[in-house]
Amino acid sequence: MLQMNNSILTTSDVRNTLESKLSRYFGVTPQEADKNQIYKAAVLTVKDILTSKRSKYKEKIKKQRAKTVYYLCMEFLVGRSLKNNLHNLGIVSEYEKVLNEMGFDLNELYELEPDPGLGNGGLGRLASCFMDSLSSLDYPAKGFSICYEYGLFKQKIIDGNQVEFPDDWMNDGDGWLVPRTDKTFSVKFDGHVSEKWENGKCTVIHEEYSEVQAVPYDMMISGSDSEAVNSLRLWRAKEISNFNMNLFSQGQYVRAIQENSNAEIISKVLYPSDDHTEGKLLRLSQQYFLVSASLQNIISDHLASYGTLYNFSDKVAIHINDTHPALCIPELMRILMDIYSYSWENAWDVVTKVVSYTNHTVLPEALECWNVDLFRLKLPRIYNIVSEINRRLCEDLWTMYPGDWDRISRMAIIGYSQVKMANLSIAASHTVNGVSKLHSDILKKTVFRDYYKAMPYKFTNVTNGIAHRRWLSWSNPKLSKLLDECIGEEYKKKPETLTEFNKFRDDTSVLERLQEIKTENKLALSKFIFNKTGIIADVNSIFDVQVKRMHEYKRQLLNALKIISMYIELKENPNAHIHPCTFIFGGKAAPGYYKAKEIIKLIWSLGSEIERDPKIRDIIRVIYLEDYNVSTAEILMPASEISEQISLAGKEASGTGCMKFMINGALTLGTLDGANVEMKEAVNDDSIYIFGHTAEEVDELWKKGYEAIRYYQASDKLRKTVDRLHRGFNGTSFSNLVSYLISGYGVSDPYMCLADFDSYIHTFNELTSVYQNKELWAKKSLRNIAQAGYFAADRSIGEYAADIWHINHVK
Ligand SMILES: *Cc1c(COP(=O)(O)O)cnc(C)c1O
Repeated sequence: MLQMNNSILTTSDVRNTLESKLSRYFGVTPQEADKNQIYKAAVLTVKDILTSKRSKYKEKIKKQRAKTVYYLCMEFLVGRSLKNNLHNLGIVSEYEKVLNEMGFDLNELYELEPDPGLGNGGLGRLASCFMDSLSSLDYPAKGFSICYEYGLFKQKIIDGNQVEFPDDWMNDGDGWLVPRTDKTFSVKFDGHVSEKWENGKCTVIHEEYSEVQAVPYDMMISGSDSEAVNSLRLWRAKEISNFNMNLFSQGQYVRAIQENSNAEIISKVLYPSDDHTEGKLLRLSQQYFLVSASLQNIISDHLASYGTLYNFSDKVAIHINDTHPALCIPELMRILMDIYSYSWENAWDVVTKVVSYTNHTVLPEALECWNVDLFRLKLPRIYNIVSEINRRLCEDLWTMYPGDWDRISRMAIIGYSQVKMANLSIAASHTVNGVSKLHSDILKKTVFRDYYKAMPYKFTNVTNGIAHRRWLSWSNPKLSKLLDECIGEEYKKKPETLTEFNKFRDDTSVLERLQEIKTENKLALSKFIFNKTGIIADVNSIFDVQVKRMHEYKRQLLNALKIISMYIELKENPNAHIHPCTFIFGGKAAPGYYKAKEIIKLIWSLGSEIERDPKIRDIIRVIYLEDYNVSTAEILMPASEISEQISLAGKEASGTGCMKFMINGALTLGTLDGANVEMKEAVNDDSIYIFGHTAEEVDELWKKGYEAIRYYQASDKLRKTVDRLHRGFNGTSFSNLVSYLISGYGVSDPYMCLADFDSYIHTFNELTSVYQNKELWAKKSLRNIAQAGYFAADRSIGEYAADIWHINHVK
């Protein structure tokens, strides 16, 4: 139960508020209301609770003059909110009871909520998990992003081909948004700038610009068992209707209205590429739109609280999640200098005290660069400032490394007609972090080596984490209940205490309960799959799952090769010793990513062919689940037994999917990449299944000259598997993939599927053979659950708060 205004929220409060919303907004009684109206009324009542909690929390922040972190990110993959908010506020049973009395099932209402997909994958989901932890730990925080009218596309698989459909989530999904039309800011693009000197003082004049209004839509972010309600502010672009009055008076009404009609496309759609830059002008406009509106907002709030900017860096921490919001660096310089008359040195001092940066990838195609001409035209004043930052940086570097042109040009922000956003971010941030130990080490040794040498004190690591309440407690209520019975509920607020569960590793009744729970969750997933695909997944088979964005480096292809080799083996020898397996895939490919789409087609075709073969499909089954998103993940994670985390070592910065699987008791089959390395340290070697080349071995192999064909020639199994692609599946040949793997024009097999194939198959067989011994499997599963506390976002946020942002709990 929830303490509200020092009183407790009772079922009759819930009933009264629901009834009053129904009557006020829909003119109906609970008896007359339909499911949709009840859902909307429930959202409205929860929003009221959050609003009143939030205003109290804001009072506290103000009173304590507390430092706030502003988390800037182009993506927040929020997922659904009703269930999360009710659980966080501790009022599920009150709502359940009242709704039951009204004849409705709360779980059905949850399903009515669209899943706002304002992000592509891991990056955006991390941002949302972090917001949850910030509120749950009572840290003052505000997230900033864009209110995309269309989130990530909806995926359908038609005859094995991915087809994209628009996600107009706002239609039914804007229920959680609070428009703040009183808090708009204007963002300026284009035009030209000049300097005017007057009485020894320089004024910068920006003329003939085009202007866009940024309108905030707030989503309140509840915490679990906490006082804080923070907000995620999403900016929407709106035209500024400064109509050309001359045209009006000339009677040219239509032309006057047509004149500025392009502004609103800025927040129209999320770019659907994960780990890949879009060098498009519109994307640059989106980035500047986000940072300019957010910074004007941060400064105006600060002035409203303190009436001065002198203490700005004591009260404000600004975090950029990847380089996408890096323009906040020159934008803060611009505001301080052009509007508040700061000197360059003073402005730079503020910027470098408040900004910190997280790197999320070492993939070269994901490192953002902007064409200088494009940049200068779109953002003339910002370009001036970036040039000056670069000039001063190079001057300093010249003193440090006289004559070392190579190094200086590698470290420069502008060069070869490109603006390099990573260099800008490192140069201006007080702290730069990677997202797993391995990734942070690789940053220092490779992409950021020069910067690490010059400014070692800036570099650190914060390993990613997940919202363990959403991903364990709320998604897997059965496991959650078992944990509550065994170790109490403390782990919900202190995830590290999950280790208490280790005490039950020899308790056969607990091990049996674990197996029952897994089977029940598999049954629920199986129903879900049946409803979507008409395929019945056998709950006695092993559920082996790989769900994540489709990407060559994540190697869904390697997984497919494994299944093909099993298929060949079963065809040759129907009595082969193979434990029945259901292989489940899910994930979207960027619409322009041809190779990724080809791999979807391969997996789907393989699945279709097997499905027509009654002997094979009883042993192995392949299912491609459409439209993988947060809500699907919440059903998949509790039901998974094998977690496929098989990226080429050195490529996956951290991964967070791996953590969701682990905390739900799946065993990881993975490479030594990203957070897998730390998961291995956490569980000891016998509860995780590691295979393949290490990141160092991969580097050596490249240096020696990697020849995929040699692996093909050396292994019968691999050769048969690759050759089988020519014939293909379900009537489609995949000869293109054969060329890709062994006879490409460029590099063959760029992500070394063949080099890791034998070791992958071997380790998979070792892992599946454990399944014969159910109790042993359950023990390993228990070990994973008990050791997963480290991978909670609460731990990550604790580290950011203490070591990077220097913020305190406000209670
Ligand atoms: C957690 C999550 C991801 C990230 O998965 P990885 O395996 O870390 O790439 C992507 N999409 C959704 C919907 C998620 O919930």
